[in-house]
Amino acid sequence: YFRALEKEGIHLNGPQIQAVRHGSGPLLTLAGAGCGKTTVLAARTGYLIAVREIPASQILLVTFTSKAASEIKERIARIPCITTRAARAVQARTFHSFGLALLRQSGQHEQILSDYATRHTIMKIILRRLKAGETYQPETLLAALSSWKMSGEWPSDLPSKTAEEMKIKEILLTYEEWKQGRNQWDFDDILLHTSDLLNDPQRLSELQSRFTYMMVDEFQDTNTVQYDMVQKLSAGHRNLMVVGDDDQTIYSFNGARQESILDFDKVYPDATIIALPINYRSDSRILGLGTALITHNEFRRPKQLVAAGAEGLPPHYASPANVEEEASFVMDHVENQVRLGKVTYSDVAILHRTAGSSRALLEQLLLRGIPFVQYGNNTVFYDQSLIKTLMDHLRLSLNPRCKEAFQSTLGPLYIPREDGMSYLVEQENKQPKKYPLIHLTRWDRLKPFQQDAVKERIRLIKKLASLKPVYAIQEMRRLFYDKYLEAGDPLLHTQYKDTMIDSLDELESAAAQFDTIDQFIAHADELTLRHQQMEALRDGDAGDAIQLLTIHRAKGMEFRHVYLIGASEGILPHSTALKEKVTQEMKATHSEKVESKLVKAALEEERRLAYVAVTRAKERLYITSPLHFHGKAAEPSRFLLEAFGIKKL
Ligand code: ATP
Ligand code: MG
Repeated sequence: YFRALEKEGIHLNGPQIQAVRHGSGPLLTLAGAGCGKTTVLAARTGYLIAVREIPASQILLVTFTSKAASEIKERIARIPCITTRAARAVQARTFHSFGLALLRQSGQHEQILSDYATRHTIMKIILRRLKAGETYQPETLLAALSSWKMSGEWPSDLPSKTAEEMKIKEILLTYEEWKQGRNQWDFDDILLHTSDLLNDPQRLSELQSRFTYMMVDEFQDTNTVQYDMVQKLSAGHRNLMVVGDDDQTIYSFNGARQESILDFDKVYPDATIIALPINYRSDSRILGLGTALITHNEFRRPKQLVAAGAEGLPPHYASPANVEEEASFVMDHVENQVRLGKVTYSDVAILHRTAGSSRALLEQLLLRGIPFVQYGNNTVFYDQSLIKTLMDHLRLSLNPRCKEAFQSTLGPLYIPREDGMSYLVEQENKQPKKYPLIHLTRWDRLKPFQQDAVKERIRLIKKLASLKPVYAIQEMRRLFYDKYLEAGDPLLHTQYKDTMIDSLDELESAAAQFDTIDQFIAHADELTLRHQQMEALRDGDAGDAIQLLTIHRAKGMEFRHVYLIGASEGILPHSTALKEKVTQEMKATHSEKVESKLVKAALEEERRLAYVAVTRAKERLYITSPLHFHGKAAEPSRFLLEAFGIKKL
């Protein structure tokens, strides 16, 4: 088998071979980025099939994304002595797709509610109905509910001792009932119900004999429910292999616990442990930078990594004045490299910390007509629901009859979409030329509070028309969101809130480049149009395209050239992980000692994100720190100073 692999150019090293040949019982492979963990998983799957003659369909391989699942199947298919059919029979899945398949088989047909915006809106309506809209924010409650469920608890068991706890529980249970009433599940429900299904001894033992070998990639990011699934499924045969890297835990906000991997050998004292010390991915300078950086984390297992390859060029660093210049710099650089024949677009990945921090870059890509693929998020910045609402208000200020834009105003007015649409249809028949919003005040189906809201909205829209774009955005932001975003929050801060703030800041920066609302909207429309044209071209095959991804999405992947943008204090590490911010959020609920621990933990997670980002690069790494963003001055990221081992850049 190994000779056959070598003929295909795969020369595994000693510890890798040991892991591949591992027979039965628990196995832990804890190793740094790019040391061949995923490679070993694929090779061991092949070995089990080709050498141990285990039927492929008995092997369950859990990956973090569906893309990773299909990639690993491709890797397996390329192994000589494995038929395509066998490679296909391997159960390579994500926790969610595995769970959903089981639930479907046992006759459960709930619809999957995957859209975050919908859940957000439902929560908002419930808050309003329960008169709690002033106190709580939908995204915070959704996140709190998710982290409760992902710790393996059912919503019905939420604490209800204090008045506050009782209120929160009432809201969250109403949300749960809303879903149940419509036969819907969100992603967390899939996992909870799967875990529940595994409590049935008979079902469980069937599954245990159906999947006799289990392997899990990226084990460092499993949460409690997922860990529980893994333990149950492998409990009978204990043929469990997990691989991961504690330095790459980046999903704590989803309940991931580093302990799952760090304590594996405590839970399975007889586990074989195999370290993989050789990094085959990155040039030694890139690896050195990653290592220098991650060594600053305290909560980790120390590792010694050596690069297999020769020493390449040192990582390149630049500090453009702002995000617009950063975007031009990066795109000039990429275009130049492509022109010189050093790379093709598909060799290049641009990584960023948050959705908002890629706005300027995305615009450059679109305006220059450079092919790119953006994972996970296929809408232009201006078409994201939060941003679109504000842009549509601007549209209405120029053209009060714009029907498309009218729809966006309904959400913030608490008018259900269907009602709004039937109103438009009525208007269309009665008096097609009239200004829909004005007549909305006289619509008999409107409740008094909605009528007031509509009148106020009309005043606002008239006012916006006279403002410069950036002030118009600020005005709406103040009215619609500030109360939400700044209210003292008894629950933990959340990524959703951060994302909202980031996006709004970004929108202001973009608006500030234009003198009139007209110009600003024309710019946004132009981008949307170009984006649609690109999408149409790209349908089917990504072809030779640059990849634009968040660091979270880039996990497990590798690229010849990597550009890490936004390496500035406030973006990476993100402002929400910085001391002042965390402390402010925690004051109400935590002691000082807990606070300082949480601050540290948040910063270490940001450092792990930076580590994941730099270790995606094979040959060249370019890092940029914009010195201004969102209208404020910013220092280069502290992580760079750590990584380059200097005090000042
Ligand atoms: P990550 O932590 O980022 O998920 P990983 O440990 O899973 O990384 P892989 O993706 O498996 O690492 O491997 C990184 C790169 O090294 C891949 O390009 C892979 O093909 C290559 N590689 C792995 N093992 C060997 C080997 N023995 N010889 C040569 N190349 C190897
Ligand atoms: Mg991997």
